[in-house]
Amino acid sequence: MRFSRVGPHSWAGIGEGDDVLHSYGANQGFVRGKRLGIIVDSGFHNRAAREILHRIHPGTRTMLVVNTHHHSDHVFGNSVFAEAGAPIIAHEKCGRSMHARSEKVLAEYRGSDPHLSRLLKNVRIAYPSLTYDDLLAAHLDNGLEVEIIHPPDRAHTDGDSMLALPGERVVFAGDILWVGYHPNLEDADVQGQIQALRLILRLKPRRIVPGHGPVSSQREVRRLIKYLEEFEINTRSGLRRNLRDDELVRHVIPRWSWDWKMRWLMESYISNLAGKN
Ligand SMILES: [Zn+2]
Repeated sequence: MRFSRVGPHSWAGIGEGDDVLHSYGANQGFVRGKRLGIIVDSGFHNRAAREILHRIHPGTRTMLVVNTHHHSDHVFGNSVFAEAGAPIIAHEKCGRSMHARSEKVLAEYRGSDPHLSRLLKNVRIAYPSLTYDDLLAAHLDNGLEVEIIHPPDRAHTDGDSMLALPGERVVFAGDILWVGYHPNLEDADVQGQIQALRLILRLKPRRIVPGHGPVSSQREVRRLIKYLEEFEINTRSGLRRNLRDDELVRHVIPRWSWDWKMRWLMESYISNLAGKN
């Protein structure tokens, strides 16, 4: 993971790669007060979690973890922080989805590949200990304002959280924003995600840390809105014309995004759409 400073008190941890053994390239981050720190997402496995823990720990006595949503690459490192005494904060529906799905997903991953099984060996699912509904606003012990925002409609999932630092003009967007990666839409509502991206723009951030991909500006937010709008229009026309498999994939994915990572996931998502119609 590469760490980069995004504001006077905030850092992004940027992942690499786009397969499961590289955590799908999922990002993390942290914010520092005087003695209090907030970690944004705990990563896919304990090693990823410890990388953040070691970064934030000197001087930080008390930690809180925010889970941006329930997907494994953002929450499987939770127990590393829970065991260090950190409360885990998430939207109420994120907590609910974790209770319904995380153990099963972990067992499936462990059964699917020996490398993966080794990587996830010490993962223990640690559930959110504090949940909220719409907005959680707080000040860190250095006065830094922190807002944990739940978009009003289902976006990437129904339990998304973004973390905004108005004083630093930084937003940790979780998987509402993907940059250079095709978005995972398996739990998403495309219109809801577009609305959530517009909400990010209204916050007027200077730096945005996406769930996957490099630290970005508002331009990349607008680009993903354009992608999702074209994706919807192309899906409708492709299905109307009864396109299937490769033909449908080529029709739906905007040409200007063909070199983005995680195309394999988007291809299987689009092929399934045809099966459902
Ligand atoms: Zn996700």
